[in-house]
Amino acid sequence: MRDRPVYNTLAGNCDTRYDDTYFYLYCMIELRKDTNAKYQLKVGRSKTGLGLYALEPIPKGKKIIEYVGKVMVDEPDDDKTSKYIFNLSKHIDIDGAPRWNTARYINHSCRPNAESDVVKGHVWIVAKRNIMLGEELTYDYGKEYWKEYIAPHGCRCVKCTALREKKK
Ligand SMILES: [Zn+2]
Repeated sequence: MRDRPVYNTLAGNCDTRYDDTYFYLYCMIELRKDTNAKYQLKVGRSKTGLGLYALEPIPKGKKIIEYVGKVMVDEPDDDKTSKYIFNLSKHIDIDGAPRWNTARYINHSCRPNAESDVVKGHVWIVAKRNIMLGEELTYDYGKEYWKEYIAPHGCRCVKCTALREKKK
């Protein structure tokens, strides 16, 4: 049985839950709303719905935007129904579902031009290579997400689309 540590940090944001044997508490420890965007970006239409585009060139290795949201401690796995959960550490998750989390508009790619990087407890989207003006930003969502949400309908990233075209 997993430990349910109790935190008394921000009592106002804590919630209590029961399961068969446990009474436990989980907390939203922080509401991070500032995306700290370092470059001009724009949400626009992409092949897969909406996407996030660079409105200026971004050099390789530069931080682009922070992935923000509700920072949760020991959110029970059963409650992680959001597709926008970013697992920061063993105990901490960020639910990036709110629309003000602009980074949530960045689509998955198997050959991405950006990547996520955890810096001092904050999640940054960082340029993996030089990104041109007008390019759509992408990063790799990881194996678990890919299996659960992308594989069932087929990946529509540039790499997988090209592979499918070749096979035809
Ligand atoms: Zn793909």
